[in-house]
Amino acid sequence: MTRFIFITGGVVSSLGKGLASAALGASLQARGFTVRLRKLDPYINVDPGTMSPYQHGECYVTEDGAETDLDLGHYERFTGVSSRRSDNVTTGRIYSNVIARERRGDYLGGTVQVIPHITDAIKEFVMSDATEDFVLVEIGGTVGDIESLPFLEAIRQMGNDLGDGRALFMHLTLVPYISSAGELKTKPTQHSVKELQSVGIQPDILLCRCDREIPINERRKIARFCNVREAAVIPAYDVDNIYQVPISYHQYGLDNEVLYHFGLQAQEPDLQPWEDICNTIRNPEGEVTIGIVGKYIQLPDAYKSLTEALTHGGIANKVRVKLEWIASDELEKEGNVNEILSKLDAIMVPGGFGERGTEGKIAAARYARENKVPYFGICFGMQMAVLEAARNLAGLKDASSSEFGPTKTPLVGLMTEWAKDGGSVERRSDDDDLGGTMRLGNYECKLVDGTRAREIYGSETVLERHRHRYEVNVNFMGQLEEKGLKFSGLSPDGRLPEIVEYPDHPWFIGVQFHPELRSRPLDPHPLFVSYIKAAKERSRLV
Ligand code: GLN
Repeated sequence: MTRFIFITGGVVSSLGKGLASAALGASLQARGFTVRLRKLDPYINVDPGTMSPYQHGECYVTEDGAETDLDLGHYERFTGVSSRRSDNVTTGRIYSNVIARERRGDYLGGTVQVIPHITDAIKEFVMSDATEDFVLVEIGGTVGDIESLPFLEAIRQMGNDLGDGRALFMHLTLVPYISSAGELKTKPTQHSVKELQSVGIQPDILLCRCDREIPINERRKIARFCNVREAAVIPAYDVDNIYQVPISYHQYGLDNEVLYHFGLQAQEPDLQPWEDICNTIRNPEGEVTIGIVGKYIQLPDAYKSLTEALTHGGIANKVRVKLEWIASDELEKEGNVNEILSKLDAIMVPGGFGERGTEGKIAAARYARENKVPYFGICFGMQMAVLEAARNLAGLKDASSSEFGPTKTPLVGLMTEWAKDGGSVERRSDDDDLGGTMRLGNYECKLVDGTRAREIYGSETVLERHRHRYEVNVNFMGQLEEKGLKFSGLSPDGRLPEIVEYPDHPWFIGVQFHPELRSRPLDPHPLFVSYIKAAKERSRLV
């Protein structure tokens, strides 16, 4: 019997609802339960695939190839449960499905309305293939938004359909401190709960974000005015690192309160793995500086999984990872390359799209290769390393990617542009619109014997997640290998290069996939562990 926990947010956005949901999932797991997390996003975009990382942060890709909200990354990192396509839906997707059904005549000429058709489609989504003990459903946005009303109505109905024994409503709010008055204010929380009640939802648990202790009297007041049990007003204080959150929630009784609501008994949670991580983070043996050369550096959320994966690599090596954000076009200015890059212990060129700043990324790859600085190129970062090798080692001066326009020397291009006889393009979707032309999700990669990649993974094949349109052109493999760039991973049919490396370099690896999406604090990705180890070694050298 699956129980559903619905998580809404109030007062302001950016309170960390995704993290709160993920951490509650981890606490329930630590008590021996199975969990799955889902996210309902109120915006009209059909999926986040085409949304700008500037506005929306990273687009997280699931194993089964769905482009989803970055909160799903938090869920996976905290619970270790791989998300699926069926774990994230937007208003746009719900409407587009309902409209498609209407066009097919599925509603037999009836009037199609928000209630019941849209709300039923939402309910169907929430309930679909739920086999775990708990499904935690996060509702994006803030209570009071016009857009989230159909979602709130759907979960309100589910509260009735399922009953208290199977549904719980948790509301995350803010208790601000007003310095001029020297007081904590509970009114925003009261108003937010009123807003929820006005759509028929009575929260069972309030999780109150606050930057200082909420005294018992204020908690009592919140309980009384919001019609919840006193023990169900749980403070959520700021913590020094996110992996402290499940520990802190337990300390303030959140998981207990959930079990109380459902009338469940369970073992005390085993939070030791989280304690160990926090201890390592607080007592590192040293520090490494990683330079991230990218385009979206004003908004670190655009690289959320990447920065998390680097932290995981740091934890495994007992070092703090300090990030230096470098705008790639800065490296296009005379003299900057040496000055900026010489201070780093390692260079990272992450995923990216479009031509702007690419010369800077290529310059970073060249600097790393020539100066033996550890280099990790992810997706676009691998493509840039390949262009660098083609231009500066193989003498293909005009080597380019067809992503930047027609080129005579397409080192990187759409497979259709360079595949010979019978070459078919791998893809998951038959749509021809922008949302459907990428290689998305898990694909197998065969590792070449005797390479560093093979050694790091310790297996012959790996499954890694992809999100890209262009591929490194395998027809140039021989020419590049002759000059020292080894192709150490390929698709099983040998047509798509997946990993490249320089065997005579301390650590230089480019991967066509996104290993950061699979890294977890309790199970760090081997490439990140190895990369940070190389950075640590270099930090002792220079
Ligand atoms: N723009 C490149 C492509 O589409 C790389 C994409 C990425 O880095 N995720 O192939």
